[in-house]
Amino acid sequence: MTMFSKMMAALGVAVLATAPAYGTGFDVTAIGVRGGLDDGNLSAWMIAAQGQSKAVMCDAGTLVNGIDIARRRGTLKRSRETILHDDIVGYLISHPHLDHVAGMLIASPEDSAKSVYALPSVGSVLLDSYFNGKAWANFTDRGQAPIGKYKLVDLAPGKPVPLAGTAMTVTAYPLAHGGMESTAFLVESQQDAILCLGDTGADAVEGASRLAELWRAVGPLIAARRLKAIIIEVSYPSERPRNLLFGHLTPALLFDELAQLEAAAGGKGSLKGLPLIVSHIKPAGSGEDPRDLIARQLTAANRLGLNLIIPSQGQRWTFR
Ligand SMILES: [Zn+2]
Repeated sequence: MTMFSKMMAALGVAVLATAPAYGTGFDVTAIGVRGGLDDGNLSAWMIAAQGQSKAVMCDAGTLVNGIDIARRRGTLKRSRETILHDDIVGYLISHPHLDHVAGMLIASPEDSAKSVYALPSVGSVLLDSYFNGKAWANFTDRGQAPIGKYKLVDLAPGKPVPLAGTAMTVTAYPLAHGGMESTAFLVESQQDAILCLGDTGADAVEGASRLAELWRAVGPLIAARRLKAIIIEVSYPSERPRNLLFGHLTPALLFDELAQLEAAAGGKGSLKGLPLIVSHIKPAGSGEDPRDLIARQLTAANRLGLNLIIPSQGQRWTFR
């Protein structure tokens, strides 16, 4: 029984089985938006079905610092403890690089019991490198002396899995990230979907077809107007030499990929207006803020008409 139907039942109101589903689309909060260096602002996206408090994190490079900033901005209203302990019910970990897991690791001693969803290759590095009783206590339910607070859930590519404590599901799609397996997460709530990608290189650079496979899988969702937003990395400006990309995207490479997605979604104009959040912009050593440069390059390349969003930490959106 939902909270709504419990309330209605308590009021003696009959709840129709066909009552219209509330909560279409998603609420997304930027808990961390950058790639590298800004240790309080690294990839972390809080995703909930619209109007629902129970959320999952797509990566958790930063956690409590980003929650505090969102609270200060007024985009998250509940206490830090309530958000960490009650609202966030699971972690989707795209790959085990520190800038995607540090917030979760640091919060884990004070965290509540949650599920951690990952491809097996990612889960095994989490166990070997962090939750091994040496680098950190083993808060998972596997491996060396497990404490059992985090239930490690293995994802199989292309197979939807329920997100415990929510009405959402997640489907993992493997990505190529400079020799490491990374993950794109398709989160679905009723008929709606949102796609959150971990770090990824372009197929042409990686010598892989992971993004092509992903675009084939999500293209039909865009054609059906079911996909509400995409969160994807752009780490470096377009002029960055290919041998220094380390498995990341630039504006030029992103738009080469998005042209493939447009074709998979039904052709010309099919991505028009689709919100695309640009994550993981890496800081430059000196000179112009890379956010400004990358934003300019993205805008210039955006002939597909996407709704490009350069996020700031603590920002919150409803995509429907
Ligand atoms: Zn990475």
